[in-house]
Amino acid sequence: MAKAKYRYNPHTLSYDKIEMSFRDRLMRAFMFLGAGLIIGIGIYFITDAYVDSPKEKKLKQDNAELQSQYAILNKKLEQMNVVLEDLQHRDDNIYRVIFEAEPIASEIREAGFGGVNRYKELENYSNAELIISTAKKLDKLSKQLYIQSKSFDEVFEMAQKKEEMLASIPAIQPVSNEDLTRMASGYGYRTDPVYKTTKFHAGMDFTAPRGTPIYATGNGKVIQADAESRGYGNHVRIDHGYGYVTLYAHMSKMDVKVGQKVKRGDVIGYVGNTGKSVGPHCHYEVRKNDEPINPVNFYFNDLTPEQYAKMLEMANDPSQSLD
Ligand SMILES: [Zn+2]
Repeated sequence: MAKAKYRYNPHTLSYDKIEMSFRDRLMRAFMFLGAGLIIGIGIYFITDAYVDSPKEKKLKQDNAELQSQYAILNKKLEQMNVVLEDLQHRDDNIYRVIFEAEPIASEIREAGFGGVNRYKELENYSNAELIISTAKKLDKLSKQLYIQSKSFDEVFEMAQKKEEMLASIPAIQPVSNEDLTRMASGYGYRTDPVYKTTKFHAGMDFTAPRGTPIYATGNGKVIQADAESRGYGNHVRIDHGYGYVTLYAHMSKMDVKVGQKVKRGDVIGYVGNTGKSVGPHCHYEVRKNDEPINPVNFYFNDLTPEQYAKMLEMANDPSQSLD
């Protein structure tokens, strides 16, 4: 039941009942409704802007948690990068140096991905910068790790070859120390035993009784086993690979054939006096890339430091060679 409303009428000094048309009532109703709506919307926006709903509060917490997790992740990535840098440094300056390999160029290690923007789909996130920088760090790290592991594969292969190389290059005397009667002559300018002039002697002469065994000084393949009546006489050449060839001359008897594979320490022949020689000895040459080099540097496997010093002294004696 609606209350009736009255208005004071000063002319009649009485209260007149206010009669409202249906239209007026409707207008009033709409006015109230409209005002309510405007106030309601206003309150909604104000609370929405300044007061979080429980769901929003939860989301904000989650977001903050994720951001701090990302920050921790970033820090860990940086630490891993430091470890990787140390590995790269050791790889370039120690491991690869040992095996005489070039360090890996920084352009290769640092190479980016280039071209397409791989992080485009991440750009729409509210913390895009943090997410993208973390993703970039992770990508860079994984790429550098891949390159580093490839380099270690290479180093491993080089280490295996190095073993093979160390077994191949000349490293012992062709005649055993106990069989030597005398270390006759070394490498360098010596008096020619026949012509008595100063001549370059491209090897070392090991004097020993006829028939003393001569050993291959490194692993390799026999590339020559010839009987010359002059010059080297019965002589054997062994190709050791890596540019090294050794030659053993004036043998009384050769014990290998061309093409035969030999190991360091295998007997390849016996001391003799064939060819241009003035007494039983083994003339021994070491050649690197077709150039004769001083064999004195290639006995590191079987001599003690004292023996080596004595041998050096004798080899440097500028007496005549036996050829
Ligand atoms: Zn000689």
